[in-house]
Amino acid sequence: MRIPIYEQSKTKSLHFIVVIGFVTWTGILTALYFWFIDAELEHHDKLIALKAEALGQQTQILRRWIGGHGDVYVEIAADIQPQTQLAHIKEREIETHSGRKLNILHSPTVLRKILKEFGTTSNDQIRLIAYNPINPSGKPDTWEKESLDHLQSGSKKVQADIKTDTENVFRLMYPIKRQKKCDRCHDYAADDTSEVVGGLSIIIDRAPHDAQYQALKRRTRLTYFWIWLAGTLGLLLFDLTGTRLLRKIEYTSTHDPLTQLNNRGRIEWEFHREIERANRYNAPFSIFLLDIDHFKEVNDTYGHSAGDDALKAIAQTLKDAIRKTDSAGRYGGEEFIILVPNTDEENSIILAERILHTIQKTPVTVSAGKTIFLTASIGVSSLATAEGDAKRLVNNADKALYKSKNTGRNRICIANT
Ligand code: GH3
Ligand code: MG
Ligand code: MG
Repeated sequence: MRIPIYEQSKTKSLHFIVVIGFVTWTGILTALYFWFIDAELEHHDKLIALKAEALGQQTQILRRWIGGHGDVYVEIAADIQPQTQLAHIKEREIETHSGRKLNILHSPTVLRKILKEFGTTSNDQIRLIAYNPINPSGKPDTWEKESLDHLQSGSKKVQADIKTDTENVFRLMYPIKRQKKCDRCHDYAADDTSEVVGGLSIIIDRAPHDAQYQALKRRTRLTYFWIWLAGTLGLLLFDLTGTRLLRKIEYTSTHDPLTQLNNRGRIEWEFHREIERANRYNAPFSIFLLDIDHFKEVNDTYGHSAGDDALKAIAQTLKDAIRKTDSAGRYGGEEFIILVPNTDEENSIILAERILHTIQKTPVTVSAGKTIFLTASIGVSSLATAEGDAKRLVNNADKALYKSKNTGRNRICIANT
């Protein structure tokens, strides 16, 4: 017979699975969260770079358009005065037939004026800078100077994220190459062969973008937290219901449904365990087989249901009589087995007598207002007479029980050998 493993409750395995599930769930969500916000940060940086590039391209188009149309004439005003560096141009100032006074503005000046306007509506900046600027506002700062040097070597653009205590910006610079018309105003040295004479510098203020990213991060964290909590609660619920279900399954698979005593499978497993223990520690061990006397008559006289009630009453008597270390089980029909570890034959007889005595004087209700008294016969067998053999121990107890039955019932017989 294959002995079932009762000792280690399956609820422990369930808790273990739930803990593993919890650790995995927390791990996966944490990894997913960091992966997501990392990808979002990359995306966010790319968007800032794209914004800078879009502004740069628009400005380049504007610059090329103005330059391509031979500069522009605008009305002279307080902030628009004839440019001294264009004094050599014959038509620097003109007057229309109607008397409007116009003067020529070359493309860098037009651009600077437009970009100045742009600077008043946004924290971002677009600057035209040159190695040797005519206008002081075109003087490169340290980063722009270094970038210009870099652009000289042929790079198409230079970009950088600059984060200091005072600055949090994305910077981008495109080269502006020397053209023939630049010579109208710029006085390049004869031996100056450098191609890149200036740059278009774009500065994006990262603060509003970073604030947006932080808000997204907070929202994402909250979302992941709720998902994690829902999963964790689900696991907890699974653990609670699973544990309850397992306990129920464990109980029903090891107990007799009528008497709630250990069933045959469970008691046999306990029996083998106790025998092994007794043999290992050389400890005394006894068992009884108990059979109700003339039980068939109870069924025949009062009905099967009354018989069931009588079985329950006897089972309760057994449960009350034995010690915590003993165990009782329903062996079959109206026959019970009681395991009495660490108890020799002499002491087990005392317990058996107590049980018989209690059964004898316990009234069993068989119908409304009708009670009867039952008796039982017991066969006792001890390990000392069975030489440590489980099968022999039961056979001896069975023989002793048979003897009890044959010698008048309501008594205890002890196995001889
Ligand atoms: P003896 O003193 O020789 O043991 O006589 P007995 O009548 O007790 O023994 P017998 O083996 O002739 O009959 C046992 C009866 O127990 C027969 C069976 O119907 C009854 N029985 C077995 N299991 C149950 C049960 O679960 N419920 C009820 N009501 N009766 C049961
Ligand atoms: Mg019987
Ligand atoms: Mg019987």
